[in-house]
Amino acid sequence: MVSNMKRKTASIIGFALLWTLAAAPAAFPQASAKPTTQTAGQHSPVAPTKEQIQAVVNEAYEKFKSNTEGKNADYIPVLAQVDPKLFGIVVVSTDGQMVSAGDINHAFSIQSISKVFSLALAMNELGADKVFEKIGSEPTGRPFNSVEAVVDMPTHTGNPYVNAGAIATVSLISAPSADAKWQKILDFYSKVAGEKLTLLQDVYKSEAATNTGNKALAALLLKYERIYADTLESVDVYTKQCSVGVTAKQLAMMGATLADYGANPVTGEQVIKRENVPEILSSMTMAGLYDGSGGWAWHVGLPAKSGVGGGIVAVVPGKGAIAVFAPPLDKAGNSVKAQLVITYVADKLGINLFSPRSVGLK
Ligand code: GLN
Repeated sequence: MVSNMKRKTASIIGFALLWTLAAAPAAFPQASAKPTTQTAGQHSPVAPTKEQIQAVVNEAYEKFKSNTEGKNADYIPVLAQVDPKLFGIVVVSTDGQMVSAGDINHAFSIQSISKVFSLALAMNELGADKVFEKIGSEPTGRPFNSVEAVVDMPTHTGNPYVNAGAIATVSLISAPSADAKWQKILDFYSKVAGEKLTLLQDVYKSEAATNTGNKALAALLLKYERIYADTLESVDVYTKQCSVGVTAKQLAMMGATLADYGANPVTGEQVIKRENVPEILSSMTMAGLYDGSGGWAWHVGLPAKSGVGGGIVAVVPGKGAIAVFAPPLDKAGNSVKAQLVITYVADKLGINLFSPRSVGLK
């Protein structure tokens, strides 16, 4: 009901205002009659209009579309065959409006971005404290599939976004069987996206045939008693969740659900428990781009999550999300063009969470 009302209001006040709301100074002490020296006369709620966001997205698309840096993931053989020129950008606001450019309807595998949503499901069931105790949230500074991190990190699981921590997170989700767990996860992701998602069979088969490294990580977790269900079943469900197909449009909508504190902006359904969203977003800020996370936080200042399928989604809390799909990856496994686009758009729109502009200062 609240959500419906919100959507109705939002459609009246429009896209631009919605992007301003979180930056609006009204709720902040500095907006009072006696401004502080720091903020006096500086409030400038420079909300971009939908047209301005479209223009910035178009600029980014043109600027980076010919970039050929990076290489498709090939350790999952089928990913090497994806057309490296595919390139799509989508922005979705928390009132469900969308701007886009390029290949926004091509389904690609969600890969590690799935880890965010399985974390959300585990937190829905167990609460933030229990998940923190069972998984942890320390950046490893190591590649996402590192065996050394499992050995060295005091928690062994590290965080929910390295493969070991993600497999352990899957093991926390309750279900009577591995099949039932997989269905539960797929249904949950579909609700987050606001439409039915499906498994990309070719990706699943390719990864299931080559995932000995992940099986080894799970076995190591068993040694440390940091996996909470059958190891091989947990790896298999994890492999399926990584093989879920999403388009850039669907991924941006999933990001917008996070931006909307767990309620899908179009269906209005509160899919992710609202109280868990701050922890989900802070963990994305610290570890969402694997061993590229520190540089990302430094330069861009937005919670984001990448996957080796070539997708990255970045979330602007309360305002919206941007998803980019472009398969060639850097050495850490992050899409090169997606990083360039989000960095460019975030800078042009002034949405770095820590920037003065994002809190309404010049
Ligand atoms: N399914 C991939 C793996 O387990 C996910 C990795 C990723 O996207 N970084 O290696």
